[in-house]
Amino acid sequence: MTADTTHLIVGASLAGAKAAETLRAEGFDGPLVMVGEEREWPYERPALSKDYLLGKAERETIHVHPRQWYAEHDVDLRLGVAVTAVHPGAHQVSLADGSRIGYARLLLTTGSSPRRLSVPGAGLDGVLSLRSAEDSDRIKAAFQSASRVAVIGAGWIGLETAAAARAAGIEVTVLEMAELPLLRVLGRQVAQVFATLHREQGVDLRCGVQIAEITGSGGQADGVLLADGSRVETDVVITGVGITPNSQLASAAGLETGNGIRVDARLRSSDPDIYAAGDVASAFHPLLGKHIRVEHWANALHQPQAAARAMLGQDVAYDRVPYFFTDQYDLGMEYSGYVEPGGYDEVVVRGDADRREFIAFWLRHGNVLAGMNVNVWDVNPAIQALVRAGQPVDKNELRDPATPLESLTGR
Ligand SMILES: Cc1cc2nc3c(=O)[nH]c(=O)nc-3n(C[C@H](O)[C@H](O)[C@H](O)COP(=O)(O)OP(=O)(O)OC[C@H]3O[C@@H](n4cnc5c(N)ncnc54)[C@H](O)[C@@H]3O)c2cc1C
Repeated sequence: MTADTTHLIVGASLAGAKAAETLRAEGFDGPLVMVGEEREWPYERPALSKDYLLGKAERETIHVHPRQWYAEHDVDLRLGVAVTAVHPGAHQVSLADGSRIGYARLLLTTGSSPRRLSVPGAGLDGVLSLRSAEDSDRIKAAFQSASRVAVIGAGWIGLETAAAARAAGIEVTVLEMAELPLLRVLGRQVAQVFATLHREQGVDLRCGVQIAEITGSGGQADGVLLADGSRVETDVVITGVGITPNSQLASAAGLETGNGIRVDARLRSSDPDIYAAGDVASAFHPLLGKHIRVEHWANALHQPQAAARAMLGQDVAYDRVPYFFTDQYDLGMEYSGYVEPGGYDEVVVRGDADRREFIAFWLRHGNVLAGMNVNVWDVNPAIQALVRAGQPVDKNELRDPATPLESLTGR
C-alpha cells in the first residue's frame, strides 16, 4: 500500500462501471479514477448484436449509468485514453498521453478483443467484426446497402448477427469450421436446434468448411474463397471467430496470467493490490474448484461487485453459477452452469426440442453441470439450484415436465 488512497479502475465498460458503483455504495469516499480507451462512456454490449443493431434501441439505452452519474458520484472518468503500462512496485500506471496515475488498489477490467482471422484478404474494407458500439454502427450502416452478408464463425455473436441481418432482409451465408454451430459448447443434439433454426429462417448455413481467402476488388471485400475451391459472393464479411482476453498489461507487469489474468476467489491477482474482473479475469471458482474465465454479461455485472468489496478489505468469495443468454429470431434462451468441451457424459432434454420449447441438462456421473432453458421461462433459479447441489438426480424425473425441478434439488 502507498499513502495514496486512490482506487483506480482500468477499463471503462460494464465491469468497470459496476465496480465504481459498488465502491461508492460500500462507502469508499476516497479518490476514484476510471480510465477507458473507448470514447463512449461505459455501456453494455449485448444489444449491439440485437436490438441496437436492428435499430430498435437507441444509443442512450445501452449505457450502464447516465453520463452525469460519474460526476454525481465523484468518479474521475478519463475516456479515450489507454493505460499503456502498470508499475506494481511504484503503484502507478502510465497512460498513452504520457501521464501517470498512482493507486492504492487497482482493478483491471480490460475485457477482451475479437480474434482476427489470419487468412489473406482479412484486412480488406468490408471485413468487419463486432465488439464496440462503433462496430455495431458500422455493421448497421453496411446492412443498409448490402444485399448479401457472409458471416464467418457460427458462435453466439456470429449467429446473433446473422439473425439481425436476416431481419434486415439480407441474404446471409454463415460459414462454420465445425460440423454444427456451437458444437463444442452444446453438443450435437442442442447444436442441431440452432442449425435448424437458422436454416428455417433462410440462412445458408455451411458447416465443416475452411476459409482459404477473402477476395476483393479495389480494396473492398467481395467474396469468401473456401478451401474446397467454392466461393461465396458477398457485399460484406462479418467475422465472429472468438475473443481473446486483454491481459497484456498484466502479463507485461509480471502478474500471473494464463487465459486471462489469474485471480483468486476474491478476484485478487498475484499482486496483492491488483484485482481483475469481467471478461479478462481467470478466476478461481470455489464451486467448480478451478479457475475459469467467463465471457458473458452476467459475470461482468456481478464479479466486479465482489472485486470492489474485496478491494475494500471485505471477506468475499465470488461463486455465482455462470449464466448467459441469447435472443435469435423468436428463440430466447438462458444457460446456467459450466461445462468444458467434452466434459459431460449425457444430455437430458425436458420438453420438445423440435418445437424449441425445452430445457436441456448436461450431466456428468448423473450430476447436473449446466442447464439451458429455451423459450421456457422462470426456471432459472431452479436450474441454478440443481447445478449448485452437485448431487446425482433421477434422470426420468429430470426429463419429466410434470416433476417440479425444485423437488429434485438436494436429494
Ligand atoms: C456484440 C456482443 C453481444 C453480446 N451479447 C451477449 C449476450 O447476449 N449475453 C451475454 O451473456 N453476453 C453477451 N456479450 C458478452 C458481454 O458483453 C461481455 O461479457 C461484457 O461486455 C464484458 O464486460 P467487461 O467490462 O469485462 O469487458 P469489455 O466489455 O470488453 O470492456 C473492456 C473495456 O476496457 C477497455 N480497455 C481495454 N484495454 C484498455 C487499456 N489498456 N486502457 C484503457 N482501457 C482499456 C476496452 O476498450 C473496453 O472498453 C456480448 C458481447 C458482444 C461484443
